[in-house]
This record gives sequence, C-alpha cells and structure tokens, in this order.
Amino acid sequence: MKTASFRFYEELNDFLPEKKHKKSFSYRFSGSPSIKDAIEAIGVPHSEVDLILVNGESVTFSHHLSEKDNVSVYPVFESLDISPVNRLRENPLRDTRFILDVHLGKLAKYLRMAGFDTLYERHYSDSEIVDISRNEKRIILTRDVGILKYKTVTHGYWIRSQDPVEQFREVIRHFDLYNQFQPFQRCMHCNGVIEKASKSQVIQHLKPKTRQYYNDFYRCARCNKIYWKGSHVKRMQELMNSIEKDK
Ligand SMILES: [Zn+2]
Repeated sequence: MKTASFRFYEELNDFLPEKKHKKSFSYRFSGSPSIKDAIEAIGVPHSEVDLILVNGESVTFSHHLSEKDNVSVYPVFESLDISPVNRLRENPLRDTRFILDVHLGKLAKYLRMAGFDTLYERHYSDSEIVDISRNEKRIILTRDVGILKYKTVTHGYWIRSQDPVEQFREVIRHFDLYNQFQPFQRCMHCNGVIEKASKSQVIQHLKPKTRQYYNDFYRCARCNKIYWKGSHVKRMQELMNSIEKDK
C-alpha cells in the first residue's frame, strides 16, 4: 500500500467525517488511481471540485496519484485567488448568487444588470441575511464585517471599496465572473427574471419618444417594469465592457 496526504477545503468537508474536516489526513491506496477516483473514494463527488493541487501544482482529474503526494482539493463555490493556475472548468458549475447588506443598493443594481441573481432589501436584518445565505447558498456581500463573524456564515466577502462602480469591479474580479455576464436577464429593480415582450404588449405604458424610437422591449415577470436598450443601457454596456478588459 502507498500513502498520500489529502486536504479538502470549505464546503467539500460536508462530505467527510468530522475527524477529516479541514485538516490533512493520510489516504492509503494501491496502484496509481486517477485523482478523480481517489477523491470520490474518499467520499467527495467530483462535480463539487473546481481545483486540485498536487504538491502545489494544479492538475486535472486524470492525473495519477503517486506515493507521498500532497493533495489539496477546493470546491467550486469558494473564492480563491487561483488565476495563475488551471481551473478544471471554464466556468464554475454552480450559479453564483448573492445577498447584499443594506448598504449596497447600487451594487445590487449593477449585479442584476449583469444578470446575477442578487437579493437586496433595505429591511433585511443581519440574521435574516445570514439565514437566507445559508438556505439558498448565496454569497453574502457586505460592508459590515460583523455579519461575516456569524458562526453559520460559510460564504461571504467584505467589500473594500465605497464606490459602487469599484465595488462591482471588485466582485467580478474576486469571484472571477468575467465570462458570466448575461445582461437582460434580471430586473434591476426587483431581481425578477425579465423576458422579451412585444411592442404591442407594452405600448400603452411607453412615453411617446420611446414609442417612436424603440422596437425591442423586455418586461420583468415579477414587477412588470419595462426595459429597452436606450442610452442608459449603452452606458451600462460600456461599463461591463471596461470591466471585462480587466480580466
Ligand atoms: Zn422587476
């Protein structure tokens, strides 16, 4: 038998017995199994894994395990500075969803504009934010470090900047969301899903100039707010383009 050392990070520990939580442990094996088979034999579904480091180098699932290898395994959900190493997938498997504290109303609008499912309500208390985050697997974004000290918080990020555009930039960079913009998916006002609407469906609600100059419309399925690709959208698109250049 050979031995390798494994350590699993963050929510991957949910799949392990408590004595293996968040620490290195020995794994005994024979032959040279793929790292994917070894990880699944330990009990962690490979679909939950985004990054594997063996002796400090990023490897793919097909890498073969060797005697005395030192293996670190990271989940999809976790935010890490891994830009210099290979992720196993181009995009994370799971949807990245957020819940924001009461100070981040403008950031909420930007994230929704870019298509991210983003909860924000002025009346949320800290404990409500923590509960919703846990129940709906949402990442907490906050300017208030206190929220992140709740024991039950597993995924949160303290926003450094006080400027909404910079905050947006910071979130996209931190969670590596550059390839995931989907404009015209979310209502900036209520986070509802927006859908294409025909001009005849919305015409009675349009101002004369909008009626005259625009033909493509979208409507929020939740609050009925109507969207069209006017100058406001152009500015937003420019902002998203400029952020994509940071990549
Ligand atoms: Zn809406």
